[in-house]
Formats: sequence, structure tokens, C-alpha cells
Amino acid sequence: MSLPAFKNEALTDFSRPENRAAMEAALAKVKSELGRDHPLRIGSEKITTPDKLKSLNPSRPSEVVGTFSKADVALAEKAMQTASAAFETWSRTPAADRVAMTARAAAIMRERKHELSAWICHEVGKTWPEADADTAEAIDFAEYYARHAEALFGGDAHARVAPIAGEKNEMRYIPLGVGVVIPPWNFPLAIATGMTLASLVTGNTVVLKPSSDSPMLAYRMYEILEAAGFPAGVLNFVPGSGSAIGDFLVTHPKTRFVAFTGSKEVGLRINELAAKPVKGCIWIKRVVAEMGGKDAMVIDKVADLDRAVEAVTVAAFGYQGQKCSACSRAIVVESVYDEFLSKLKARVEKIKVGASDDPSNYMGPVINKGSFDSITGYIEAGKKEGTVLTGGGRAAADGYFLQPTVIAGVPATGKLAQEEIFGPVLSVIKAKDFDQALEFANNTEFGLTGGVFSDDPARLKKASESFHVGNLYLNRKCTGAFVGVHPFGGFNMSGTDSKAGGPDYLLLFTQAKTISEKIA
Ligand code: NAP
Repeated sequence: MSLPAFKNEALTDFSRPENRAAMEAALAKVKSELGRDHPLRIGSEKITTPDKLKSLNPSRPSEVVGTFSKADVALAEKAMQTASAAFETWSRTPAADRVAMTARAAAIMRERKHELSAWICHEVGKTWPEADADTAEAIDFAEYYARHAEALFGGDAHARVAPIAGEKNEMRYIPLGVGVVIPPWNFPLAIATGMTLASLVTGNTVVLKPSSDSPMLAYRMYEILEAAGFPAGVLNFVPGSGSAIGDFLVTHPKTRFVAFTGSKEVGLRINELAAKPVKGCIWIKRVVAEMGGKDAMVIDKVADLDRAVEAVTVAAFGYQGQKCSACSRAIVVESVYDEFLSKLKARVEKIKVGASDDPSNYMGPVINKGSFDSITGYIEAGKKEGTVLTGGGRAAADGYFLQPTVIAGVPATGKLAQEEIFGPVLSVIKAKDFDQALEFANNTEFGLTGGVFSDDPARLKKASESFHVGNLYLNRKCTGAFVGVHPFGGFNMSGTDSKAGGPDYLLLFTQAKTISEKIA
């Protein structure tokens, strides 16, 4: 089988009545399925445990999206053994079969697109367009990695190496082993699907520990992969808190690699634990870790300040600022600072906040109470470090709703300008000129995304060379990377720069074997 050229999944136009009706119907269907109990999936077994995880709707925290059996260490061990046994056959399954299953998973997701988006609305508080983009990205990852696996495993292994007289040489790619996949909640379908399918299509088996805030989407993905034909044991679904089973899975001697996306703190812990030799482990574990950001957009003197304000607003407050790529610092040159602030205030105050399943709202809730409290703490700190331009408090009585908040006059080295807040809080920093703005932009431990608005090609060139981030955007917002178009991953404490959705990503899930045969 050869798949047609990759094309990004189109985003849904919800201004069309038929698309609105389809999404309404999907939301109603999902509503009727809320609150059900879901088992662990290890091999062909469905295992129920008394210890439950509750997934709650952050727009209405009393609404239980679903309950999930939690794994203890003994069940995590069983999942590792199962994945390890399944590797023996899965790693030898023809790559063409793995590719076909991956493409089938994409097709099933496409058929169930609005239903998946409706689950995303309910479980993590994404609005319709944000949920739709999450689902589209999951489909894209599946389609993109299917094609890259086809090239990687179907390519001519002899053509990769230089010829030499008297020998036949080749370099072929083979899988690694059992991978522990640990996704975050903020792209509950896309990131879980991307990391899981990259592992599986390359012939590895997986123990998936979903985020405790989004087990439902991980479970929906599990079911889709099962329907797509991935055999039992190849993917094992093991919810449980990071603290209870996370360290156990990472340090397990049979873990060959960990694919993690989440916070800097947890990523560094995983990296450290995975590096320590443990009895019975005969390899150096590979860690693919994509972590947090403190992303800045630099605003130079520009012809159209309105465009810059729009881009900053969307990048800062889309999905309540809960994207690793979200703009959390606007660094504005002095000459346009006051005008930028006045336009920004007017634009941000137009944002409507409320339940994410109501399409009239632009911003929904933040993910949970812990997050709400932590962001509120940052807003309080911001009131001391700078001046609240707009927002600064709770947006509605029920649910974890916060106002879109802009804090101006923030010092470039302060808490607000340095720490990842992961919520709808934008700090605005004044710079005396473009060079100082770039200096401020680079002055954090992170290096994920960044943006620059400028009319001056020489300054854009300078930013391209010296703004040290994995994904730099010129004269556009710093969020919204498309699979295949904007390979994604960060520098410094933002991670291992794996470039998810890029041409080299699958190599991280393989090892290369060189075979030389004397023929003369
Ligand atoms: P998190 O708190 O680090 O959790 C991420 C995952 O790690 C969850 O599944 C969590 O499980 C698990 N975990 C926690 N402790 C663990 C341990 N000791 N061992 C193994 N696993 C453990 O992050 P989050 O709140 O879900 O996600 C938000 C963060 O992700 C932000 O920092 C954001 O910037 C980052 N992010 C980065 C990217 C990127 O591409 N760079 C993309 C998306 C998000 P529990 O839920 O059970 O604790």
C-alpha cells in the first residue's frame, strides 16, 4: 500500500448550519453517555479496581464525565510484562500492516470527529473550535506518521549507506522495545495519539498512563486503536496518578523509552530517574520529553498594530492560555507601548467567558481547582509586580472560570515574566528598543515558541538568527502549529526538541542496525 500525499485535516467551519447541527448532536450524544465507569485495559483483559479516578467537567465540576479504575503498582507491573511479551510479535509484524492500522485509526477518528470533539469540550473545557483543532491534529498525527513509517521501513536500506567493493551493506531501522507514554491533559486527544501512534507504528509496544485530568479521551483513543486492528497487548491503558505509578513505570527495567509531554518539573524528574541504572536493565533508556514554555511575542513598531494586538490576544487567551505555546509575555518597544496597551485592553475586554459547550463563549474554564488556585496566586503576585490592565479575578460563579487578565509594566526578570503560569494571564513588558526586546525574550530558562511583529526585514532576520526558540513565528500568532507544516518542539528547559509532527520524529522511536556482508 502506498498512501496518498499528506494533507492537513480541514478545520470545521461552525458558521455553517450543518456543522453546527452535527456538533450539537454530538454534544447531546456525549451528554447521554457521561458518568460511566471504565476499566483498565491490559492485554485482552478489562480490569476493574475499587480505587477510582473521577474525570470532571471543568465548566461544571459537579458533572462527572466518567470514572476510571486506577492501577496500583502490581497492575502496572502486569502491564509492563504484557507489553514486553507483545513486543516479541509486534516488532516482527510487517511495517505495512502497522501502517495500515495507523491509517485506519485516522479514518475512524475522522468518522467520529465531532463526537471526539464533544468529549474534549466536556472533559477539558475546550470551546468548539479548540476541540475541533485538537481532534484534527490527532488525525493529522496518525496520517503523517503512517506515511513516514512507510518511508522509513519501506525505503531502500542499502541506498542509505555508501557503496564499497566486496561488501553488501545496509542500515535498517528497527523498534526499541516497550515505551511508557505519558501525555498531558491540554491536548487530550492529539498529544496522546501522536506519542502513542509514533511508538506503535515503528513497532514498539506501549504502556499508556493517561493524565488524571483527561483519561476519557485517552480511553476513546484506546478504543479506536483497538477497532483499527492493533492487537491486544500492543497498547495497554493504565490510569493512575503520576505519583503512585509514574516512577514505577519510568524506572522499570523493561522500559526501553519514555515519551512524555508535560511540565518541566515532571519531565526533569523522569529524565533523572530514567538515567539511573537499575538491576536487570541492560540499556540506556531514551527519554523524549516535551515540556513547558514562557513564550514571548515581541512587538516592534509596526504599520498595523491591530493585527499584532489580535495575534497576541488569540495566542494568550485561546484555550484560556493553557497551551505550551501560549503567549504569556508581550514585549513591546517603548514607541508603541501605550498605543498597544490601549488597543489590547479594548480587544481583551470583548472576550466572552463561560461554559465551553456554549459556542458563544470564546474562553472556557481552566482545568481544575488546583490550577485555578495557582493561577489566582500568580494574578495576586502580578498585582504587586505590575498593574492590572484588565481582568484580575474570577469570571463566573460556577466552574473554574477566570477573566482574561493582562498585567502591564511587569519587570522582565520578575516572577510573572519567568515562571510558566499556564492560564489566561498575559504579562506586558516594556523594552527601550528592538534589541532589548529580543534580549528580554531570550531571558528565561525556556525556549519553546516565540513571535515577532515588525515591518523591518532586517529586524525579522535578526530575530530569526537570535531568538532562541524551537518554533519562531514572524508577523503571526505563536500558537496553532500544524502537523507536517510546523514541526514542534522546544529548546532549553522546554524539552528535548523532538519536533513532533516533523520528518525526523519517528527516528526517536527506532534504532538503526547496520549489516555488512562480505560478497567477494
Ligand atoms: P504534568 O503535571 O507534568 O503532567 C503530565 C503527565 O505526567 C500526566 O500524565 C501526569 O499524570 C504525569 N506525571 C505526573 N507525575 C509523574 C511522575 N512522577 N512520573 C510519571 N508521570 C508523572 O503536566 P500537565 O499539567 O498535564 O500539562 C501541562 C504542562 O504540559 C505545561 O507545563 C505545558 O507547557 C506542558 N505541555 C508541553 C507541550 C510541548 O509540546 N512542549 C505540549 C503540551 C503541554 P497525573 O495527571 O496523574 O499527575
